[in-house]
Amino acid sequence: MQGRISTEKRHTMPEVEPSKRILNFSEVMLGYDEETARSEARRCLSCKSRPCAKGCPVSVRIPEFLSLVAEGKFEEAYAVVRSANALPAVTGRVCPQETQCEGNCVRGIKGEPVAIGALERFVADYHAKFGRDSSAPQSNGHKVAVVGSGPSGLACADALIDLGYEVTVFEALHLAGGVLVYGIPEFRLPKEIVRREVERLTSRGMKIVKNAVAGKSYAVEELFSEFGFEAVFLGTGAGLPRFLGLPHENARGVFSANEYLTRINLMKAYEEGAETPLYPAKHVVVVGGGNVAMDAARCARRMGAEVTVVYRRSRAELPARREEIHHAEEEGVAFRFLSDPVDILVDGDNCVTAIKCIEMQLGEPDASGRRRPIPKAGSEFLLSTDCVIMALGTSPNPLVGRSAAGLEVGPHGEIKADEDGRTSLPGVFAGGDAVTGSATVILAMGAGKRAAKAIDEYIKAKE
Ligand code: FAD
Ligand code: SF4
Repeated sequence: MQGRISTEKRHTMPEVEPSKRILNFSEVMLGYDEETARSEARRCLSCKSRPCAKGCPVSVRIPEFLSLVAEGKFEEAYAVVRSANALPAVTGRVCPQETQCEGNCVRGIKGEPVAIGALERFVADYHAKFGRDSSAPQSNGHKVAVVGSGPSGLACADALIDLGYEVTVFEALHLAGGVLVYGIPEFRLPKEIVRREVERLTSRGMKIVKNAVAGKSYAVEELFSEFGFEAVFLGTGAGLPRFLGLPHENARGVFSANEYLTRINLMKAYEEGAETPLYPAKHVVVVGGGNVAMDAARCARRMGAEVTVVYRRSRAELPARREEIHHAEEEGVAFRFLSDPVDILVDGDNCVTAIKCIEMQLGEPDASGRRRPIPKAGSEFLLSTDCVIMALGTSPNPLVGRSAAGLEVGPHGEIKADEDGRTSLPGVFAGGDAVTGSATVILAMGAGKRAAKAIDEYIKAKE
């Protein structure tokens, strides 16, 4: 096998050039055409040991789908992907492939890995244009409730529908999709695609009740006693933003990335006359270095601001996807590495005027394995700004945990659940960010899928 590995380059995906794309929120990456997709798929070596598939949290049969793409059998390729992955058009766009399937690809040892994510996106988009969905199997007469319509809830619902369950999803917001609709911006994941994927599930029988907040509109127990569900999956995510606890963090012009992104993505603040407008700002400072920070920075650029990302480690430790960092830099986002905020300065109206930071140096690795940032005494500096966006991670919202008597939760509000999603309450399962804290779309989907299997076993055991 080694002898066959060449350094042949992979096909780049066309994208909108930076000067044009920062003028709007349209999708940046434009996708492969059929010929390019076939040619890229032909780069796959069909390795017997399938290392790429081992890197996939939902176990997509990657070499099989790639060989079908290479033959031009796009619908068959889609069927292979779809049999393991409920949302391929989404994961093809947002998965951190470089640390999963593509990170394990043998082609990557001496050259560039096969563009597995781009090909997953291609087959999903091809299917949306030309394919037909299979109908749901006949109902087995059992009813399951899913709370939360993010990737974990949707993957759980999809797997349950495949097994014949009648699934109702209860969602707190007025739109289904979780972070896919309120967090990840349109230019990375068009909302039309999320709508299409949700509709595919509703056309297979999934019911959605929107504006329905567990712990406020109804208690988890009522889903059993009042509504007659036999099991409940909690996929309520981790939507509670963290702050640094700095003086003036509640000043005008300081936002959590969650609020900033929700105003833009869910409430379309960039549209003329939007009912939920955005704070007007000329120079935005984003604190953090993950995908959420990159999304906030790139949105702020599109809203016309100069943007600086402040991150306390160095470039090498940035946790965001490589593509997002590259795109942010191309779009003119500036970075201040090895810098940590210590204060926010305000004027007489409590509006932000500057952020005070201190320079950091990297010490020994900490519990996360990354080198610990240590402040350099006397190295404080000021950055002028009229808006600060905190992108420091999120925790699960404690509402659901508090409202379900006997449901065990951890110190950060995370629901305690085993590998298959079983919680401390019989018949109540949980997965995704609500259990792990903020993670990734595909890990949330994997958890939803495993929980669906455990729910099936639980209900069958009662028969
Ligand atoms: P969520 O997607 O958070 O969905 C939870 C749903 O539950 C929401 O719709 C919420 O409204 C609903 N809910 C909450 N409480 C209640 C309640 N009490 N009653 C009813 N409904 C409720 N991951 C990647 O893999 N790649 C990326 O590029 C990426 N970028 C990201 C960018 C941003 C800005 C953010 C915030 C996250 C990003 N992530 C990314 C992480 C990823 O989106 C999450 O890990 C994933 O969405 C978690 O899925 P989930 O189903 O557990 O929760
Ligand atoms: Fe193909 Fe790469 Fe997977 Fe090998 S590791 S089968 S080359 S995608």
